[in-house]
Amino acid sequence: MNAATLAPSDEIASKGTLLIVDDTPANVSVLFNFLNTEGFKVLVAKDGKSAIQRAEYASPDLILLDVMMPGMDGFEVCEKLKSQRETREIPIIFMTALADTLDKVKGFSLGAVDYVTKPFQHEEVLARVNTHLKFRRLQQQLQAHAQELEKRNRENEQARAAAESANRAKSVFLANMSHELRTPLNAIIGYTDLLREDAPEMQPNEIVDDLEKIQTAAKQLLTLISDVLDIAKIEAEKTELRLVELDVGHLVEEMITVIKPTLGSNQLEVNCDPNCGKLYSDPVKLQQILLNLLSNAAKFTREGKITLSVERTETLIIFTVSDTGIGIAPEHLEMIFKPFSQVDSSSTRQYGGTGLGLSICRHYCTILQGEVSVESQLHQGSVFTVRLPLYLHP
Ligand code: ADP
Repeated sequence: MNAATLAPSDEIASKGTLLIVDDTPANVSVLFNFLNTEGFKVLVAKDGKSAIQRAEYASPDLILLDVMMPGMDGFEVCEKLKSQRETREIPIIFMTALADTLDKVKGFSLGAVDYVTKPFQHEEVLARVNTHLKFRRLQQQLQAHAQELEKRNRENEQARAAAESANRAKSVFLANMSHELRTPLNAIIGYTDLLREDAPEMQPNEIVDDLEKIQTAAKQLLTLISDVLDIAKIEAEKTELRLVELDVGHLVEEMITVIKPTLGSNQLEVNCDPNCGKLYSDPVKLQQILLNLLSNAAKFTREGKITLSVERTETLIIFTVSDTGIGIAPEHLEMIFKPFSQVDSSSTRQYGGTGLGLSICRHYCTILQGEVSVESQLHQGSVFTVRLPLYLHP
């Protein structure tokens, strides 16, 4: 801290609000006139009760408090002021009779900062008031600095935690990504090896079986790489929209054809009026949104039911993908939309994936001027809802 920030000048010390608490009018009048002339704003209270009220209300910079008063004496007033959050920090100077050592000691023990003795020596009162006002202001500045430092520390700590968590997510992603790349690549290498050795003795229909497996693995790889490229484009803000008029019924039929082979043991129900009309949107992005949701539903459901419903309102088209799968705990509902985030990202996890699909979905819904939301119950299933406007604003 440099001198400039703390420089307590006479100007600071010469101004300020003082509260005089004394029941003797002669004392009050002497002090009032003198301190007023010195440039202070002076408030007066004639008893303990009104002193506390004024202190709460006007927050003076310093209080000059008489000890001997009828009703509440100065000590009680001091005790009360020091016990309240709003008045605790206001410095109190006791006004005592010259010989009253006991009073002075008691005053200090109750939290007073100083005392002045009666009859008043003007110079002494002024010096003590100025000193304590200076202290008080320095203390306030230090407190403000300390608060500022604490705030900055908190911000730094938050930034550090966020960077650490992003870093962790990226490491987990790289580990998952390597795993996701290796599994289909191993399948491709394994089956091509087998074919190379056994093909001469195999029937053509046996070869087709293995070729299909190779193709499935290759398609899986392509999807994975496309997802990574998509998220990279999104992060670089280079996603482009190609808007055309789409037939919703036709789009849904295409979806069903693509998703059917991946359903496994699950049933698919589709609720879509074939006449649900046209939509002005980007077909590639929309397909990707729905395919991501449908393939997640299939991936996280065993021997259950997956339902795709399409509903049209005056201004919106609403797609709902629900499943009866493993569900998502409430504390994970927001995190799953963040890139590279998965509920289970452990190396022993049961389900494949990179944690990019839903993040891409959310980005695409946003650029299509809509939204995606989720409701889910653990072990019961999940419902993902995509709401898109029928017509995009230019
Ligand atoms: P990925 O499926 O590649 O892991 P996503 O971004 O598509 O990545 O999904 C992120 C996470 O959200 C998944 O890993 C899973 O934990 C959770 N999740 C997504 N869809 C479902 C669903 N239908 N049922 C249960 N969990 C889901």
